[in-house]
Amino acid sequence: MTCKEAEQMVMPYINDELTDKELETFLDHVYGCKACYEELEIYYTLYAGLAQLDSDEDRNQDMHNLLEEALYVSEQRVRGRKLFNIYYAFSQVLAMAALAGIIITEILKL
Ligand SMILES: [Zn+2]
Repeated sequence: MTCKEAEQMVMPYINDELTDKELETFLDHVYGCKACYEELEIYYTLYAGLAQLDSDEDRNQDMHNLLEEALYVSEQRVRGRKLFNIYYAFSQVLAMAALAGIIITEILKL
């Protein structure tokens, strides 16, 4: 992903509009690119700050921590999805193996 692409994902990220795949590549880039991380931090702080003006949440909460928390949650989401995919693929393989086992047993009976 280029910085330009990452830049275009900042707002969709804040609005929680990225797909899991997009989210994953976006996080990868942001963690490895200081410029894009700072860009995200500025926007996130701005929007999270605006959102908090109307809420009863603690306004003195450190904005840097807010972004780190959000990134952590995003990461968990991406990881959880990956684990699920691995589990799903694994169960598919097991089902195929079981099926093959049944077929082979049936053939051997003949
Ligand atoms: Zn970048």
